[in-house]
Parts: sequence; structure tokens; C-alpha cells
Amino acid sequence: MLTIYNTLTRRKEEFHPLVEGHVGMYVCGPTVYGDAHLGHARPAVTFDILFRYLRHTGYKVRYVRNITDVGHLEHDADEGEDKIAKKARLEEVEPMEVAGYYANRFHEAMQKLGCLPPSIEPLASGHIIEQIRLVQEILDAGFAYESNGSVYFDVEKYNHSHHYGKLSGRNLEDVINASRHLDGVGEKRNQVDFALWKKAQPEHIMRWPSPWSDGFPGWHCECTAMGRKYLGQHFDIHGGGMDLIFPHHECEIAQAVASQGDEAVHYWMHNNMVTIGGQKMGKSLGNFITLNQFFSGEHPLLTSAYSPMTIRFFILQAHYRSTLDFSDDALAAAKKGLDRLFEALARLDNINVAPEASLTEEFANQLEAKCYAALDDDLSTPQVVSLLFEACHTISALADHKTTINQKGLERLRSVMHTFTFDLLGLQNEAASGNAEREQAYSGAVDMLLELRAKAKSAKDWITSDQIRDGLSALGFEVKDTKDGATWRLAK
Ligand code: ZN
Repeated sequence: MLTIYNTLTRRKEEFHPLVEGHVGMYVCGPTVYGDAHLGHARPAVTFDILFRYLRHTGYKVRYVRNITDVGHLEHDADEGEDKIAKKARLEEVEPMEVAGYYANRFHEAMQKLGCLPPSIEPLASGHIIEQIRLVQEILDAGFAYESNGSVYFDVEKYNHSHHYGKLSGRNLEDVINASRHLDGVGEKRNQVDFALWKKAQPEHIMRWPSPWSDGFPGWHCECTAMGRKYLGQHFDIHGGGMDLIFPHHECEIAQAVASQGDEAVHYWMHNNMVTIGGQKMGKSLGNFITLNQFFSGEHPLLTSAYSPMTIRFFILQAHYRSTLDFSDDALAAAKKGLDRLFEALARLDNINVAPEASLTEEFANQLEAKCYAALDDDLSTPQVVSLLFEACHTISALADHKTTINQKGLERLRSVMHTFTFDLLGLQNEAASGNAEREQAYSGAVDMLLELRAKAKSAKDWITSDQIRDGLSALGFEVKDTKDGATWRLAK
């Protein structure tokens, strides 16, 4: 039985979907105005594990992850320039070019990290109508007000009948105190109110008509509107990074309750933050490393390149609710660990079986049961990793003839190791795929030589033709002439 930690109730709960056999899961995706970094990789990998595990358990999962391409202002409050519009202005391109460019790069990076694509990936800019409808519903319910063409959520009024701050464990007073340093409330009745719709300034490019003004939706609206559209008024899981709990997800709860009368989400899940060398990651701190910089090693803080699978493995070695501190040393250690795992998997293919062996399928069954129990315990990937490492010891002992295993036991062990390493942890053997590429390259080269030989033959250039055949044969290739041309194989 899968148990997950629900941020809302602050305890681990048994997972029961709203509709038997089906799971609806929404994860906040990136705001596409820059290259993906570790802060993107961690939620992507965390919820990829959940997605894989739920599917493996037999659920039909609809996994929605949005792309924010409008409305995310520079200061997560309702101030500042739109992040994408600002980048577009600086680079003298269209905002949608910025969004398209970085969305593509995000997809590439996620694919390299072995993250399965979500079932639906909606764009905020493609759901303006749904967001306008949401704003209207909140206005109709009396929990929002219009001010100078913009619409704001009336937090104080909402808090009379509901608890604004329940997800982040705050009360309204805390929120008010925390925001007091900001001067002036401008259009808002109260500094804590948040924008549902913003009237666009004349220079603002991304704008849509609405009943209140030409403008754009507030950032928190998109996830409420798109979650509801694709997963229904009530759905199972909503996830994201811990930094989204407040204000983003807190506002989402308020919007759902204000518009439909009750909460939409059954389980809230949040992954903890990534630090680099113990420090918060930040552009101003000079420790901001993008995923592509990790993959290429081109950053002053890195002594070498780290492959996508090393990054994935490193993320999985920590529990998703713990902070994860990246350092060059820690990554180097993760690489060693990953190599060890794949070495063991390779050795598993060359083990002799014995009928009267000390290990039987019982060993693999126990390993499997423990790995499932670890994932059931709030997705404890570090436990799975350490169980796989323990199994690596046994595999070494088998390969070194220090212990024995029977046929059935070996088959089960192989299958369990493969299921957890590849299917559930989503790891890929990059070295092996490198071999495949090499093989493709050399067979391409042999084909090319045989084409040249065919050309030589048709030109009656027997010297060249024989030279190619004899050369290949000396290298261990058997070349056979048929009616349709030559075929080759590597003689054993
Ligand atoms: Zn969101």
C-alpha cells in the first residue's frame, strides 16, 4: 500500500484514488524564460518516479504538467515585468519565441534525465478563456473585486469563512506581518490580496481582452483552471517544489474553494529544495548551474562533466523531502555508485547456476518485497538504492564463485534488478548505449567499404575490389557475395 506525505495534513497517508484504478496528477511546470537547472530537475525526477510507480502498480495515470508562458511576474507578488516579456525585450524577439525556445530546451533536458513526458502539457497562454471564467466565478461568489481594470482576490474576506494559509501553516496575521514592509497597497484593498487579472500597461505585449480590461491572468490562475479542465473539479495529487507552497499553491486552494465551494486537491506533495555547496542556488551567488552546464562540465564550480544519469541518480539518492546539496565531490561519488550498479548488472549476465545452490528465488523475492516496501513508504528512493547496492555485493560474490544460485533464482534476481533500476528508478546505462552507438558507427563504415567495393567491381577495378575484401577478411569480417550484393558478418 502506497503511503505519501500530504503537505496539507502534515502526515503520511495511505494513497486511495478518488476513482478506482485511475489517478489524476498535476505538477507545476517551468516558467520558460531560461535554461533548466537543478531546481527544475528535482521535481521532474521526483514526480517521474511517482508517475512510473503508479503506472507500474496498475493505475491508469493522467499526468498533467503545465508550461507557464505568461503571467509570471518578476516578483512572485503582483509586481514587476512578466519574466518572459522581459527576456523578449532584452533579446529583441517575440515573447512566444522565448517561450518556445526554452520549452524545447526544457524538453530536451528532461528527456536526457530519463523523465517520461507527461500525458498533457498545457500552456497557460492557451487557456486564457478558462482563466477568465475562473476569475468571473470568484467575482460572482463575492471573493474578488475589480480595481482599475484589474481583479484581485479578497483574502481578508475569504479568511472570514475559510483558512487562508492552511497549506503553508500560516494564519492571515503572519501573512500580513510578513508583507508589511512593502509600501503602499495601490489598487489593492489589502496588501495580501493577489491578482487574478492584471490590466496590461500600454507597453505590455502579451495581452488578451476580458470583461475588465485588456490584460493577462494572474500567475496562480493557470494551474487552478487547467487542473480543473484536464483532471476535473476534484483530483488526486498536486505536486511541485516546496517553494511553490506559498503563495502559489495556497492561492490555488483559495481560488478553488472560492470558485467551486470546496477544495480540488486530495493530496498535496512537495519536493524539498536544492542547495549548492550548502548555499541557496542563485544567479547573484555565482553558483547557478544549468543542466546543460552539468552535462558539458562548463562551469567554474565543476571539475568535470556529469552525465544526465549521474544527475538523476544523485537526485534519487536523497529522499525527495530532504534538502539536496550538490557539490562536485558528491556528484563524483554518485557517478562511482552508478558505475558500480551497472557493473553488477553486467556481471549478472555471466553467472553460472548450480542446482544445489545456497541462493534460490527466495533471495530475489525478498529483495523485491523490500524495494516495494521502500517505494510504498513515501517513495523512499534512497532505500531502494541502498537495497540495490546490497544486492550488488551478492552479485559480486556470485561472480567470484563465493556463493551459488540456482537457475530460477538467477532469473528472478535479474528481473528484480532490471525492474527497479530501469523501469522504476528510470536509470539508463549510458555506457551501454554508447556501445550501441559505436556498433552502429562501425557497421556503417563496413557497409560503406562494401559499397566502394561494389563500385570498383562494376568498374572492373579488381585490384581495389580484392584489396577491400582481403582487408576486411584480415580484420575478421566474413564477406559473402550474393545476387543482391555483398553481405558481411563478424566471424567469431
Ligand atoms: Zn502551478
